[in-house]
Amino acid sequence: MKNKIKKAPLHNSSLENIRHSLAHLLASAVLKIFPKAKLGIGPVIESGFYYDFLLPRPISDNELAKIEELMRQEIKQDLEFRGKSVTANNAKKTFKDQPFKLDLIKEFSKEKKNLTLYQSGNFIDLCRGGHVSNTKEINPEAFKLIKIAGAYWRGDEKNPQLTRIYGAAFENKNELDEYVARMKKAEESDHRKLGEELDLFMMDEDIGRGLPLWLPNGFTVRKILEDYMFELERAQNYKHVFTPHIAKEAIYKKSGHLSHYKDDMYSPLIIDDEKYYLKPMNCPHHHVIYRRSKKSYRELPLRLAEFGTVYRYERSGVLSGLMRTRNFTQNDAHIYLTPNHLETELTKILEMHKNVYTEFEMENYWYRLSLPDFKKKEKFGDIKNKKMWAAGEKALRGALANNGLDFVEGLGEASFYGPKIDIQVKNLYGREETIATVQVDFYSAGKFDLNYVDASGKEVPVVIIHRAILGSFDRFFAFLLENTGGRLPFWLSPVQVKILAVNDKVLEYAKEIEEYLLEKNIRVGLDLRNETVGKKIREGELQKIPYLFVIGEKEVVAKKIAVRERGKGDLGLKTIEEFFELSKI
Ligand SMILES: [Zn+2]
Ligand SMILES: [Zn+2]
Repeated sequence: MKNKIKKAPLHNSSLENIRHSLAHLLASAVLKIFPKAKLGIGPVIESGFYYDFLLPRPISDNELAKIEELMRQEIKQDLEFRGKSVTANNAKKTFKDQPFKLDLIKEFSKEKKNLTLYQSGNFIDLCRGGHVSNTKEINPEAFKLIKIAGAYWRGDEKNPQLTRIYGAAFENKNELDEYVARMKKAEESDHRKLGEELDLFMMDEDIGRGLPLWLPNGFTVRKILEDYMFELERAQNYKHVFTPHIAKEAIYKKSGHLSHYKDDMYSPLIIDDEKYYLKPMNCPHHHVIYRRSKKSYRELPLRLAEFGTVYRYERSGVLSGLMRTRNFTQNDAHIYLTPNHLETELTKILEMHKNVYTEFEMENYWYRLSLPDFKKKEKFGDIKNKKMWAAGEKALRGALANNGLDFVEGLGEASFYGPKIDIQVKNLYGREETIATVQVDFYSAGKFDLNYVDASGKEVPVVIIHRAILGSFDRFFAFLLENTGGRLPFWLSPVQVKILAVNDKVLEYAKEIEEYLLEKNIRVGLDLRNETVGKKIREGELQKIPYLFVIGEKEVVAKKIAVRERGKGDLGLKTIEEFFELSKI
């Protein structure tokens, strides 16, 4: 039987209607200020609504209050929403000065049905309905225009850029206030803002979009993360390698990337008349290392790890700080093993995951077991070894159970080469993202001729696990910043202690303290600028440095330092030895 497409039910009809009606009122208000504004569309979104306009001039955030006021005036007039059905020709007459509406009418008229227009007060819009019957039903205190953004008509960069005004709307003022407070907090912890404030990374149009430049502070943290993972991996017998950022076309044909993944890759480079691609993944390079020599089952598992930089195409509209970039460095590894080692190895990997995420105090993440959906022929249609896929799934389930982990199942979320576990998180704004994956691969061994000699002397294909504990260093760093609000733990802070010298008279003593801290391997900064102590303290706090040492003439005489701790403030005068005892560094 054929599945009928059902119209999705509105999950909260009345709030949905309120939000949609507010979009009409927003358009009506904007037309009062700009009678010649051209109207785009005004849909309902998760927390409210938006409307797109082509305006005669840019508007600023402080004009939103005026628009809101005009909307409230309309609400108070108890306007009714009245609908009527019209022919496409009639609709064209109504919207003769509205090119975007005409665009929509042209498209809808292909369905050869009448269109509906809705009127409230003097404002008429082309729409399918779903309004309040009277503006009385809208609480004028429970909505707010929250931001202005640019958006291309129909999302196409070739079309005119419109001004999108976003509004939030709820049933009551409390819910609205809560939402606004939550968004404000999210913006404060946004890693793009923190990256700027804490001098961690930057972007520059001359280098290109989505290509982050890591500044000294950011690189310091990145290097600590790399060293931390390197040590953990080394202790578990991973072997680190380093491979080039490009490879010939033939290998990406073999790997299946050019047939399954081409849209995410960049155009080829030509070197000596041959095509090369920037690598979108590290796997092919590692597979070539594996096949360098004949392997026996006794040498397995072989764990090849790399902090491998990859390049993937992302549309400019979705680029977002370090979360979505065009190049990033994976905490990657490929483990080559026999099928009987699969569950044990996956158990170890998940254990490493758990330990690392606990260490970084990552919270609110969950595991998703991503399985194939054999009904989806285009993605999973050519899978022949379903038995192997089932064995992979069984091993993944076993590993989850061995670690006592709960998980959700994602049917159809498996990759084209095998089932996997995805570690999912919600970002600050509530969007779900994958932070890391563990994938079982039954596909590449055949493609790359990756075998081993088993106990009976027979050559058989090897099983491969692809895993990235931190995912990419870039994205993990972004999550870490947002989780901590930039207050990185002491061991990750780029500057752990900053010495604030009150004046030049204390210079010698300040340098003595600096020396002492350097010897103890503390990352230390020295602020000798001719500024007031108050200002230096404020700046040190804004940079979220764990400890500030204030040194004035009194401290020099006492051979002490005035210690300030992040989040706690003044801890009083201490000798340097007392400081180490107290802070347990
Ligand atoms: Zn409507
Ligand atoms: Zn891989």
